[in-house]
Amino acid sequence: MSTLKAEKITLPGLPYALDALEPVISARTLELHHQKHHDAYVVNTNRLVAGTELEGKDLITIINSSARETKYSALFNNAAQVFNHSFYWRCMSPKGGGEPHGEIARRLEEDFGSYEEFVETFVAAAVTQFGSGWAWLVLHDEKLEILKTSNADTPILHGHTPLLAVDVWEHAYYLDYQNRRIDYLRAFMAKLVDWDFVNSNLSDITK
Ligand code: MN
Repeated sequence: MSTLKAEKITLPGLPYALDALEPVISARTLELHHQKHHDAYVVNTNRLVAGTELEGKDLITIINSSARETKYSALFNNAAQVFNHSFYWRCMSPKGGGEPHGEIARRLEEDFGSYEEFVETFVAAAVTQFGSGWAWLVLHDEKLEILKTSNADTPILHGHTPLLAVDVWEHAYYLDYQNRRIDYLRAFMAKLVDWDFVNSNLSDITK
C-alpha cells in the first residue's frame, strides 16, 4: 500500500507576467481568466472528485472516465476546463503570432494550402462556434484538422491530439473586445500564437 497522499489537481502558473500579452489581452482579463475562472475549475474539480472512485487520479484519467457518465457531468465540465485552460495559456507568447516556422509551417502548407488559408479557416471556425467553446488545431490520422468544441468539450476525448487552442468563451475577450470576437481572434493569430509550443506538441507525437 502506498502511503503517498493522493495528488490534488493544481492551478498551473501562467508562463508569462499578467501584463505580458498587452495590448492584445489586458492584464485585467488575464487576471480574471486565470485567477478566477481557471482557479474555480480547479477548486470545483477537487471538490467534485473527492470521495469518488476517481479521487487521486491524474487529470486526463478524470476527464476520460467522467465524460460519458451523467453522474459525473459537473466533474467532467470542470476537469476538462482545467485541461483546456492549462493548454491555452501555453499556446500564447508575448513574442508570438504571425507566420509559423519549423515542422508546423510545412504541415500547414501541405494540409491547408498556405498559412493564410489556415488562418482564414481557423478564424472562421472560432467565430462560428455558437455560444461558449473552443477552436482547435489538432492532429488526427497524421493530418492537421480544425475543430470547434462546445463548452468544456476537449479534443483529447475524441482521439485528436491538440496542437493549438483558442478560448472563445466571452470571458476570454469581452472586457477587451466586447462583442467583437473576430478582432480578438485576428489579434491572437497575428500577435500571440506560440509556434514553438505548437511544434513541441507535434514532436511529442512523432518521436
Ligand atoms: Mn476560459
